[in-house]
Amino acid sequence: MAATTETWKNWAGDQRCAPSQIARPTSEDELAQTVAQAAARGLPVRAVGSGHSFTDIACTDGVLVDTTGMHRVIDADAESGRVTVQAGITLHDLGLVNARHGLALENQGDIDAQTLAGALATATHGTGRRFGNLSTRVVGMRLVTASGDVVEVTEKSDAALLRAARVSLGALGIASQVTIACVPLYTLHRHDQPLPLAGVLDRLDEHVDGSDHFEFFLWPYTRTALTRSTVRSDAAPRPQAPWKRTIQERVIENQVLRLSCETGRRFPSRVPRLNRMMAGAMSEAHAQDQAYKIYASRRDVRFTEIEYAIPRAHAREALERALALVERRQLPILFPFEVRFAAGDDAFLSTAHERETCYIAAHQYGGMEFESFFRGFEEIMDSYGGRPHWGKRHYQSAATLRERYPQWDRFQAVRARMDPDGVFTNDYTRRVLGPVGAPVRP
Ligand SMILES: Cc1cc2nc3c(=O)[nH]c(=O)nc-3n(C[C@H](O)[C@H](O)[C@H](O)COP(=O)(O)OP(=O)(O)OC[C@H]3O[C@@H](n4cnc5c(N)ncnc54)[C@H](O)[C@@H]3O)c2cc1C
Repeated sequence: MAATTETWKNWAGDQRCAPSQIARPTSEDELAQTVAQAAARGLPVRAVGSGHSFTDIACTDGVLVDTTGMHRVIDADAESGRVTVQAGITLHDLGLVNARHGLALENQGDIDAQTLAGALATATHGTGRRFGNLSTRVVGMRLVTASGDVVEVTEKSDAALLRAARVSLGALGIASQVTIACVPLYTLHRHDQPLPLAGVLDRLDEHVDGSDHFEFFLWPYTRTALTRSTVRSDAAPRPQAPWKRTIQERVIENQVLRLSCETGRRFPSRVPRLNRMMAGAMSEAHAQDQAYKIYASRRDVRFTEIEYAIPRAHAREALERALALVERRQLPILFPFEVRFAAGDDAFLSTAHERETCYIAAHQYGGMEFESFFRGFEEIMDSYGGRPHWGKRHYQSAATLRERYPQWDRFQAVRARMDPDGVFTNDYTRRVLGPVGAPVRP
């Protein structure tokens, strides 16, 4: 491990750090050696995947372990659906590997650039009331601990560790391998339709329960929800003509959005008009293809984001309050709210832990002021016991979060057992989890 002068920054470009070393292991042995050496020298260690978190969750001034060189497939069993891969494989590459074996992830979020372990660590999710987040499908992991030992984690070997490690914030060790339960490859039919917001909210349960994966987007200052209802089937894929996809994804979803954002940045008073223009540019559309090609979309325009998980029952009220906040304060918010749904699950720190969940995300164009809006948004979500996405901006601390996670103490007990010296800590984990081994209840 040579000392480095390299700096690191995240996808959005607004989180930076200067690690004393950046290690790039390609095997479990190399990874274990890297961690053990760093720990022996008293250096903190953080793993980083694709850097797609909006917070400083991956930052360190110690050793940053870039896991993206660990992307090999160890085993893919079409019969059982179990796929074992090195933890740094991207969701995109995992989709391709799966498809070759007639398999697919059960559900996915709206991009696939993340590494598998990076996505798991923050409870990355898609939408669909019957489906849990990505971590709910993990059946096994291999974790490199601070001593450089490798621990095999399964339900059978250590159920508490598995429930902690599925959503770990990188605070228990570094995953070298993940085994995930996949499903037979399926087709998705996606139907995008702009609809009046009031009608969508009046019939929200029907929309959410009426398709496998329902979500909608809403630009502040407009009353049109761009609904996206996606259903699963065995129908044959009908890939979109490449030019059509280019126009939709590159031109409308990215180039026109960027133009709107740049104009809004220079002339904030025009934001309501720009947002109405953006919402008006969205038209009804259908797409039908293999699942992994439908879930992910292209995101060229850089932004920052906050997202809260709240009980599904409060979805309407919370969204209406967030919309009113922007409009009352006349904030220049140029990105839509995104509203998604997910099933509850049992990972200790899953944002959907044991409750049917609505996720509401708010965004701001890169480089524009966001904090006053995000803090106001957070205050609203606090009133519903909201849990912030671990990889997206928020202003919570261990003191405000522990009440929101019924299994908080069990996670902390596993953390103290796995990393008693706090090797895998950084400023973010100190803030949101507190110090290792600290008494967790007053
Ligand atoms: C454009 C964009 C779209 C997004 N869409 C969604 C979405 O649809 N749904 C959603 O829920 N989120 C979404 N996100 C957030 C994103 O999924 C999460 O922030 C995710 O954690 C990023 O994965 P990554 O590989 O970039 O991890 P990083 O951001 O690099 O790291 C995240 C955490 O994972 C830990 N980690 C990484 N590798 C390992 C390992 N091998 N072992 C242990 N810990 C590890 C790191 O230490 C860190 O704590 C989006 C983000 C962006 C920028």
